Amino acid sequence: SPAPEYALEARGISKSFGGFFAVKDVDLKIRRGSVHALIGPNGAGKTTCFNMLTKALQPTSGQILLEGRDISRLPTSEVAQQGLVRSFQISATFPHLTCLENVRVALQSKYGRSFHFWRSLRAVAELNERAMALLGEVGLSDSAGLAASDLSYGKKRALEIATTLALDPSVMLLDEPTAGMGHEDVEPITELIAKVGKDRTIVIIEHNLSVVSSLSERITVLKQGEVLTEGTYAEVSSNPDVISAYMGG
Ligand code: ADP
Repeated sequence: SPAPEYALEARGISKSFGGFFAVKDVDLKIRRGSVHALIGPNGAGKTTCFNMLTKALQPTSGQILLEGRDISRLPTSEVAQQGLVRSFQISATFPHLTCLENVRVALQSKYGRSFHFWRSLRAVAELNERAMALLGEVGLSDSAGLAASDLSYGKKRALEIATTLALDPSVMLLDEPTAGMGHEDVEPITELIAKVGKDRTIVIIEHNLSVVSSLSERITVLKQGEVLTEGTYAEVSSNPDVISAYMGG
């Protein structure tokens, strides 16, 4: 059967905490190969949506489809194995390991269980090669031997992207990739996300609207747990309801 149009789809997902709906009847349609942003004021339900998409939180109701397959009842580990991986929720790196070691650990967590694959010397060489290739992809080739803790803030985030890529995701969820970054780090990480997003599907929560506008094909705006509107940056940013939501209206 042909691949479904949407890499990731949420149909009417809701989450209630003791009767309070943090997310209410939200639909998300994430096109394959696109960067899709989830925006909205604090408390809008963005994080709760991410938690439901990765199944860190079980939805109170609704359905989640990954590549057309219903993942609503799967645990997080299985969702990750099927290609939906989240970055930045917790630091995905070990500070005392080198960059190369960090990426190797991530590769082994994905492939290590396939017993036959890693047992030969050739497999070890291949593991190193793949780790170096991933470091190259995020611009960290020269930092392979440095401890993660010695990296600049921006490079730590790049390393987190590399460890996420090691899991070979078809859909990556990036939780505020530029949060806490100085101006000088925002542009390189934005370029990196654009590059990584060329052949993957990415969903980002992002507060920096210039990052949102430069990266995202589509944007879903949440307000008080519900979808306020969905569209291109030009469409949502000219929507009076969005403007008043951001002004606290
Ligand atoms: P955002 O990420 O857009 O800032 P959140 O998803 O974190 O929004 O939160 C949405 C709403 O749900 C907020 O009002 C928040 O206080 C509430 N909320 C989030 N998690 C919980 C929880 N575990 N228990 C109760 N309320 C929660």
